[in-house]
Amino acid sequence: MNETFDVVVVGGGPAGSTVATVVAKRGHRVLLLEKQAFPRYQIGESLLPSTVHGVCRILGVTDEVAAAGFTVKRGGTFRWGSGREPWQFSFAMSPRLPEPTSTAFQVERARFDDILLRNAARHGVDVRHGCDVRDVVAAEGRVRGVAYTTADGVRRTVHARHVVDAAGNTSRLQGAAGGGRVYSDFFRNLAVFGYFSGGRRLPEPNCGNIFCAAFDAGWLWYIPLRDDLTSVGAVISPEHWSTVRRSPRDAWREMIDACPEVRDLLTDVPTATHAPYDEVRVRRDYSYWTTKFWSPGLVRVGDAACFVDPVLSSGVHLATYGAILAGRSINACLAAELPEDRSLGEFEDRYRREFGQFYEFLISFYDMQRNEQSYFWSAKKITGLDETEAAAFAGLVGGLASGDDAVGTRLSAAAADLSSAVDRLATADDRRNPLYSSRVVAQTFRQGRILPEEAMFGAPLDGTEPALPGGVVLAADGLSWTTC
Ligand SMILES: Cc1cc2nc3c(=O)[nH]c(=O)nc-3n(C[C@H](O)[C@H](O)[C@H](O)COP(=O)(O)OP(=O)(O)OC[C@H]3O[C@@H](n4cnc5c(N)ncnc54)[C@H](O)[C@@H]3O)c2cc1C
Repeated sequence: MNETFDVVVVGGGPAGSTVATVVAKRGHRVLLLEKQAFPRYQIGESLLPSTVHGVCRILGVTDEVAAAGFTVKRGGTFRWGSGREPWQFSFAMSPRLPEPTSTAFQVERARFDDILLRNAARHGVDVRHGCDVRDVVAAEGRVRGVAYTTADGVRRTVHARHVVDAAGNTSRLQGAAGGGRVYSDFFRNLAVFGYFSGGRRLPEPNCGNIFCAAFDAGWLWYIPLRDDLTSVGAVISPEHWSTVRRSPRDAWREMIDACPEVRDLLTDVPTATHAPYDEVRVRRDYSYWTTKFWSPGLVRVGDAACFVDPVLSSGVHLATYGAILAGRSINACLAAELPEDRSLGEFEDRYRREFGQFYEFLISFYDMQRNEQSYFWSAKKITGLDETEAAAFAGLVGGLASGDDAVGTRLSAAAADLSSAVDRLATADDRRNPLYSSRVVAQTFRQGRILPEEAMFGAPLDGTEPALPGGVVLAADGLSWTTC
C-alpha cells in the first residue's frame, strides 16, 4: 500500500495534534502517526495561559479542557533569589486580581494530550496509533514522506507534500535533511521526578500554583495535580548522575529531604502507588535546539525542534506555539499563498525568537540565585557563561543578541532588571504587577499574551503589523499567513 496525503505528522503529543488540527481545519488531508497507544504518560504538567486561552481556543477544545477538572493555576510561587520568603509570579497584570485569560491549568498529560489528539481526529485527521516512524523518504533534495512500522509489524511508506517531525525529544528524524542538535552547556541538568498521593497546598488563592524551591543541589518543583496527587521533581547537575542511576527513588527522596520548604509540605504523605505515577523517572540532556527548524519538505516542532529547562513551564507553550506557526506556514504553502522558503522562513524566525526569549529569560532567572555558593549555582552564574555558550546563544537568537561580546552584558542587565522587579513585588499595589514593568518579563510573555487575542479577536489587539520586518500578517481565519 502506497498512500499519499497533503501532510504527514509524526507524533501525537501537543505539538503534533496542534499542527495536524490547524492544517486539517483548512480542509487538507492529514495523517498523524503515533508510536504509542493513547492515553500515554508524559512529563510537562504545568501549563501557561497562552496554551489554555490561545491554543486550545484556536483548536476548539476550550470547553472540553475546562470540563476536565484540572487544577487552576494562577501563576508560580518561587523560593528563589536573594530572600528566604516565597514570592508569586502571577500571570495577571494586577498582582491580586486575576483576569479571565490570566490563568492556566496543572494537567495530567495523559488526559490533556488525549483530549487534543481526539480533537484532531474530530477535525478529520487520520490518527493511527502504534505506528513507529523509522525514517524519512527523500528524493531530489526534498523530504517526500516517511517509512514506518505498524502495530502488527508491517512496514509501510507514505508520501506527503510536507512531513512534520513532532516526535518529541526522542525523535529519530533529528538528523534528517541536514538538521542536528546543539546542546546547552548552561542548562545541562538532570531531572529526577515522581509522585505523592496528596500533599499540603499553598495558602489560597495560590493553592493551584506550581511551587519551585531552590536549594543547595539545584531546585525542586511541586505541582498540585489533584487533591490526591502531587508531582515532585528535582533539577540537579549531571554530577549526580551516578547516584541517580544507582537508585532514582533514593536520590529523589534525598533531594526532597534536602529542601525544607518542599519536605514540610509532604510530611507523612505516602508516595503514589498506582500506574503511571508509581515510578520515579529520570530525564537528562533535555535543553537543546536543532540547527534547522525546517528544510524542503520537513518541518520540526515541539521538543523535536527545541526545549529549554522546565522552571518556567514553557515546554508545552513553545511546542504548541511552534505548531500553530508551522500549521499556518504549511497552509500558506498548500494554498500557494506564499512560496515555501518565505512561509517556512517566517515560521522559523518567529519560533526561534520565542525560544530565544525564554532562553534569555531563564539564564537571568537562574542568575537571581547569585548568592548561592554551591557547585550547581556557581555553574549557573552569568559571569561564568563560557564563550561557546554565549556564541551559541547569539547564533540561536540572531537579532535578539547584538553580538557575542554583548551577550554577557545584556544578560546581566536583564538579571538585574528581573531581581529589582521581584523586590518590588512585596510593596506592589493592586493595580500593576511590577513583574510586567520589567523589560525582560514583558518581552518574554508578550507572545503568550498575543495568542489569546488572536484566538478571540482574530488578530492582536495592538494591530496586525508583521512581527518581523518585511514579514507577513495573519490571514483572516487565523490559520495561514498573507502578505500585507
Ligand atoms: C523534567 C521536565 C519537566 C518538564 N516540565 C514541564 C512543565 O511543567 N510544563 C511544560 O509546559 N513543559 C514541561 N516540560 C516539557 C514538555 O514535556 C515538552 O515540552 C512537551 O511534552 C513537548 O510536546 P511535544 O508534542 O513536542 O512532544 P511529546 O509530548 O514528547 O510528544 C511526542 C510524541 O511523539 C511520539 N513519537 C516519538 N517517536 C515516534 C516515532 N518514531 N513514530 C511515531 N511517534 C513517535 C511519542 O510517543 C509522543 O507521544 C518538561 C520537560 C522536562 C524534561
